[in-house]
Amino acid sequence: MSAAIIDGKAFAAELRARIAVHAAAFERAAGRKAGLAVVLVGSDPASEVYVRSKGKQTIEAGMASFEHKLPADATEDALLDLVARLNADPAVDGILVQLPLPAHMDETKVIAAIDPDKDVDGFTVVNAGRLATGLDGFVPCTPLGCLMLLKDRLGDLAGKTAVVIGRSNIVGKPMAQLLLKESCTVTIAHSRTADLARVVRGADIVVAAVGRPEMVKGDWLKPGACVIDVGINRLPPADGAAKGRLVGDVDFASASQVAGAITPVPGGVGPMTIAVLLRNALVAAHRNAGVALAAGAI
Ligand code: NDP
Repeated sequence: MSAAIIDGKAFAAELRARIAVHAAAFERAAGRKAGLAVVLVGSDPASEVYVRSKGKQTIEAGMASFEHKLPADATEDALLDLVARLNADPAVDGILVQLPLPAHMDETKVIAAIDPDKDVDGFTVVNAGRLATGLDGFVPCTPLGCLMLLKDRLGDLAGKTAVVIGRSNIVGKPMAQLLLKESCTVTIAHSRTADLARVVRGADIVVAAVGRPEMVKGDWLKPGACVIDVGINRLPPADGAAKGRLVGDVDFASASQVAGAITPVPGGVGPMTIAVLLRNALVAAHRNAGVALAAGAI
């Protein structure tokens, strides 16, 4: 293997430690803790694990965690009422509604109800528009975490060619916007892209956010490319095993022979997402309370 491993787990731990220092300073200055509210509707086991983990890490960072659980058959109006109360609550700086929502709820409508200045997931149209037009706003946590890893590895990204595979609103599109803002030359690939391997081969930076296990092969890559694997896919269990292995969207075995640097799965992008969520919530707290935070401090 020739590629350097980008250790997202270690990077996220350092970021959380910095956040804890600034959260304590915020509490001294504002006379209250920064607060993050997480709303879970229903009892999807994966969502419950995420929400528990978010709550635990929020408290460990010295911030207040407010968890709100609604039953799976709650009405959309009940959820919208809760979001309105959180919007109005001065102790709540950030609001995250755990997705997916039950089928009888309109996700777009619920997200739109979140105050854009508390939208720490960066999913509202207002924050997507701010990102697209270069205004200050909240950027979705996973792509912002990917950008932090890329800048830590490569420094200045200006002039580099980047391919983002995937065009979802939560990963692919904001990732491409962030890279464009860093003056990369960006291509967005998707399921209708012709000759994806050729497109990927031209890139100094490859971000794979597809949801297809081990799709990107080593021989698709430009030698030395920096590869960020966002995918989280569980393979079917091997004989006798209780659960299957977790793999990314990149075939790590072959890609790590060709790439200059690569994120592993698990331990790459995954741990960054919650750390960036805490970062966004703390930034929101400073803005809401009018407490200064040095640019780039977290
Ligand atoms: P979506 O399903 O919303 O989007 C997937 C994208 O991949 C679509 O744009 C789709 O194209 C494209 N795509 C699908 N098949 C192909 C193909 N054969 N060739 C090229 N492009 C293809 O997924 P998300 O963006 O939400 O997530 C992507 C992955 O990242 C998933 O594995 C998810 O689990 C993971 N993830 C990880 C997070 C983390 O914290 N690490 C957070 C969020 C997601 P089209 O638009 O044409 O359909």
